[in-house]
Amino acid sequence: MRKQIVILGGGTGGTMTANRLRRRFDQDEAEIHVVDRDDLHVYQPGLLFVPFGLSGLDEIVRPRHRQLRDGIVFHRSEVESVWIERDEVLLDDGAVLPYDVLVVATGVRLLPEETEGLTGPGWNERAFTFYTPEGAEQLQRALEWFDGGRIVVNVVDMPIKCPVAPLEFAFLADWYFRERRVRERVELVYATPLDGAFTKPVASERLAGLLADKGIELVTEFNAGEVDGVGGKLVSYDERTLDFDLLVTIPLHGGAPYVERSPGLGDALGFVPTDTRTLQTTAAPNVFALGDATDLPTSKAGSVTHFEGEVLAENVVRFLAGKELEPGYDGHANCFIETGFDKALLIDFNYDTEPLPGHFPGPVGLPLLRESRLNHLGKLMFQWVYWHALLPGRDIPGVGPTMPMWGKKRETIHA
Ligand SMILES: Cc1cc2nc3c(=O)[nH]c(=O)nc-3n(C[C@H](O)[C@H](O)[C@H](O)COP(=O)(O)OP(=O)(O)OC[C@H]3O[C@@H](n4cnc5c(N)ncnc54)[C@H](O)[C@@H]3O)c2cc1C
Repeated sequence: MRKQIVILGGGTGGTMTANRLRRRFDQDEAEIHVVDRDDLHVYQPGLLFVPFGLSGLDEIVRPRHRQLRDGIVFHRSEVESVWIERDEVLLDDGAVLPYDVLVVATGVRLLPEETEGLTGPGWNERAFTFYTPEGAEQLQRALEWFDGGRIVVNVVDMPIKCPVAPLEFAFLADWYFRERRVRERVELVYATPLDGAFTKPVASERLAGLLADKGIELVTEFNAGEVDGVGGKLVSYDERTLDFDLLVTIPLHGGAPYVERSPGLGDALGFVPTDTRTLQTTAAPNVFALGDATDLPTSKAGSVTHFEGEVLAENVVRFLAGKELEPGYDGHANCFIETGFDKALLIDFNYDTEPLPGHFPGPVGLPLLRESRLNHLGKLMFQWVYWHALLPGRDIPGVGPTMPMWGKKRETIHA
């Protein structure tokens, strides 16, 4: 009998998984369904460039269904809930999708309304986010007119997707105002709930150094509790105040609401408890998850989703064949960090190894933890790779779910 595979979410993880599984199963072996609420696939790393006029939404958004291989059924609908006990998904149009295997890939939901005052008066006038296509466009218009004052970039709380994107925004803002020759009139502040610029100590030190070099003030352990969008005040829970003329916020993130409505599927924040190595969830043996939707202790990033996707697809095949799952994912994450002036830094790490200097993927490759033009070109080229290799589910030689060690220099760190 044909197996039913239902994939919730047609973003990075859902699309890639559907395409990988379509290659692995003939039509008469498995029916593959993808559910997403809309038909607009956003290349999210491109949102970083929109506020600075370096990219337009028309360059980073494509029809979702067109990214799926022939023979995959696309449902444009909101997921209402999952009935784990019955192996069924309920959609908001009333349709019920039974499954043999379920893959959860519904990412995160932004919750700006959870921060008092943030979406009140001043929202999208003085307080913005570039984490949504609309927000990125509105911020672009505001930056165009901004030629003096105090800009605060604030991460409300962790976890967030792409933890380096707000830093990249600050670096690019420095470049942008220098290009416009008004940098001396613009004060840039980076406020984070972390105790440093980033989560991993070595990279954190390197990134804090870059902020200092560029004259961007770093404010740490700042837990934003309240925003006065008209008065231009960001207040932390411990009652510190940061004045701003323009606020760039990375709002609170949570899991998809249907996860909370589906008994046994998620945790208190709506993330899905998932095995760190096999990507099978704790909800049921036939439920797998990947990407931002999981509770895994690694970055919420497209690269992570990509590496997880390779292991997950293999394990879905194994599960349906009654074979043991492969514990093939090691937490591998890989991020280009745009630093302005056509340069970028690259970091590569996993559950056990923090970002190290050296080269990626091997001794001759892209420099790690060091600014370079090559990394910037890598970041720009990645959009092509995304649409033409990653989403279609093709393997990228030398870049996979196991972090490569052979180009890395351990001794430099301990020196
Ligand atoms: C500004 C920005 C910059 C970034 N830069 C980078 C970068 O440089 N490198 C990097 O690796 N990563 C980057 N990322 C992160 C990366 O885009 C995400 O980690 C990745 O897209 C996660 O994939 P996903 O499949 O888990 O979620 P998504 O790609 O977000 O897909 C989730 C899908 O689920 C759908 N969905 C959710 N709930 C429902 C529901 N109830 N019903 C129906 N559909 C639903 C959504 O519509 C969405 O299409 C960036 C993100 C942002 C916002």
